[in-house]
Amino acid sequence: MECIFSVDVEDWFHILDIPSAPKISEWDSLPSHVEKNFRKLLDIFSEKDVQVTCFFLGWVAQRFPHLVREAAGRGHEIASHGYSHKLIYRMTEQEFFQDAVKSKAIIEEITGRPVSGYRCSGFSVVEDTDWFFDGLMEAGYGYDSSVFPAPRGHGGMKSGRCAPYLVAGGSRRLVEFPITITRVFGRPLCLFGGGYLRFFPYSLIKKTALNVLREGRPVIFYIHPREIEPNHPRLPMSVRRRFKSYVGLKKTRGKIMRILDDFEVTTFERFIAKYRLLGS
Ligand SMILES: [Zn+2]
Repeated sequence: MECIFSVDVEDWFHILDIPSAPKISEWDSLPSHVEKNFRKLLDIFSEKDVQVTCFFLGWVAQRFPHLVREAAGRGHEIASHGYSHKLIYRMTEQEFFQDAVKSKAIIEEITGRPVSGYRCSGFSVVEDTDWFFDGLMEAGYGYDSSVFPAPRGHGGMKSGRCAPYLVAGGSRRLVEFPITITRVFGRPLCLFGGGYLRFFPYSLIKKTALNVLREGRPVIFYIHPREIEPNHPRLPMSVRRRFKSYVGLKKTRGKIMRILDDFEVTTFERFIAKYRLLGS
């Protein structure tokens, strides 16, 4: 079984749930680093000859449509990370629906191709946001990778399932790819993205990923363009959040290279087609 490699294409200031997080009305006035950092990632993917899934924040796609076209031109799958990077459990059902529709329309206008995939900000879908999947299917998405099937800072779903599964809503269907969780030192953690990918030694990440594959689950890796730039601008935040947001940045590039050397990676779209997860 393959691994799925994904990038959430957003800027260094798109950090959630801290008092210093700038509002969307301020984003335009901040120095953007997404262009140069995303290009560095694209170059790594070209060097390793792999195609990945790029979940573009709609706001970023709107400002940098050439980045969307460049990624699509290099054969990567283009998907949606919503428009405004709000936590799902802080939005109403209607706000969420409009945000999901808006980002999809913006990206499709740029690429001229349908967008099937969605990932919300901060894996913030929870038990209470039970309208989430219906809204996504109504908006025309075919798969999602937003569920964090264990407790965490922003939400998480304790009852979440760990392997990909089909969600049905009327005549519509959607594949959910929960973030890959394993027990590490007795705790359910994701070592394949975010702070833990940067913090833990590569040998542990590799061993854990091999175990997941042996269980018949795909390993879902996720990274952000800011993680490739060790000295990107910092937002003020608590010590604990600072650690999670900025630990191990110098090692990210090397870890990505080693993952791409050691594992076969693909896009969500190709994985769904290969295993016929939405039927033939
Ligand atoms: Zn994000």
